[in-house]
Amino acid sequence: MASEDIKADFFQYLAPTSPHPLAIEVDRAEGIYIWDRAGKRYTDLVAGIAVCNLGHRHPRVIEAIKQQLDAYLHVMPYGEFIQGPQVALAKRLSELLPAGLDSCYFVNSGAESIEAAMKLAKRSTGRSNFVACKRSYHGSTHGALSVTGNENKKFHVRPLLPGVKFMDFNVVKDFELIDRNTAAVIIEPIQGDAGVRIPDSEYLKMLRMRCDEVGALLIFDEIQTGMGRTGTLFAFMQYGLVPDILCTAKALGGGMPIGAFVSSRERMQLFTHDPMLGHITTFGGHPVNCAAALATLNTLIDEKIIDEVEEKGRLFEEQLKHPAIKELRRKGLMMAVEFESPEVVQRVVQGCLEKGIITFWFLSDPKSFRLQPPLTISKNQIQESCEVIMDVIKGFDFR
Ligand code: PLP
Repeated sequence: MASEDIKADFFQYLAPTSPHPLAIEVDRAEGIYIWDRAGKRYTDLVAGIAVCNLGHRHPRVIEAIKQQLDAYLHVMPYGEFIQGPQVALAKRLSELLPAGLDSCYFVNSGAESIEAAMKLAKRSTGRSNFVACKRSYHGSTHGALSVTGNENKKFHVRPLLPGVKFMDFNVVKDFELIDRNTAAVIIEPIQGDAGVRIPDSEYLKMLRMRCDEVGALLIFDEIQTGMGRTGTLFAFMQYGLVPDILCTAKALGGGMPIGAFVSSRERMQLFTHDPMLGHITTFGGHPVNCAAALATLNTLIDEKIIDEVEEKGRLFEEQLKHPAIKELRRKGLMMAVEFESPEVVQRVVQGCLEKGIITFWFLSDPKSFRLQPPLTISKNQIQESCEVIMDVIKGFDFR
């Protein structure tokens, strides 16, 4: 089919999410690159929004998918049959996580893991209130949206869940909102779509203490920060505490759709009675996606990819210096580059795209653009990418 026809059909038949999609017509993708049908090569510095941490089509992930395709696809909804890839992935994840995070429930997406974690917290505590953070993003379904701190995304679909309070991120005084009616506090340990907001070193530990004091659970949304993105397998590992429930998705599947929430075996048992089948999903833990996720996890660990994340992040930081850049916030390879206005961001993102570099916006921070490249990006590729970004920035008159 001719390129113009596909483009026309894209706008005609696919439900849109914005009036101005990037509309790159993807031909193929490999490593950190995506090629469009005209043969233009793009360097992907957002990794499909923190999904392709191993780059596109990592050979070990592709091989695992192929092997599973030849064995079986969907055979039964989650939880009934014993499926090797699910079991192996759950075991490996549990081995890599601290005590208390030893039982994995696989779902299909980030939002779904949040929904289920919220149900588990209600079941676990007998309470129904939640405390979340302003400017957070936890997903677009009703429950996840209820704990999302971005009014722009919510006002048109109210009523949402009652009993949700919002505290400022990284402000200890707001812990007074967490009380004996709180089922759980749900928080991104580093806020992603708020524009990469990094808490003070003691903040999360103090939050853990406050939750323990009032008997509320602590849910970490590591959907964006997980799978090595910030320099450790999960970001919480740098802060000296353990959440009660961990939500992951995005990069977990190495490019395939899978999410998980992880907690203790005792807590997870709650879904098995009163009522039985207390949380169910048909496709959760699809065997092909679990095989891809296991290969992703093993590759990240075996090839010591996470060990280099901080150094690579520093390379970006050292090279992206210009008076127009007001701030660069970063943890590992999770970065936000801030300018004085959304208009400047718009021009820089567009300018980079024209020169074959994909960057992207944040949902709740219009003055910054995101850089979240595949963790496999080489030092040379970082150098080359930064040179292009700097050329774009230097090309503007910021007066
Ligand atoms: N939580 C965080 C921190 C996210 O960044 C996202 C997606 O961007 C979600 C939840 C929702 O994940 P999904 O789009 O897979 O439902």
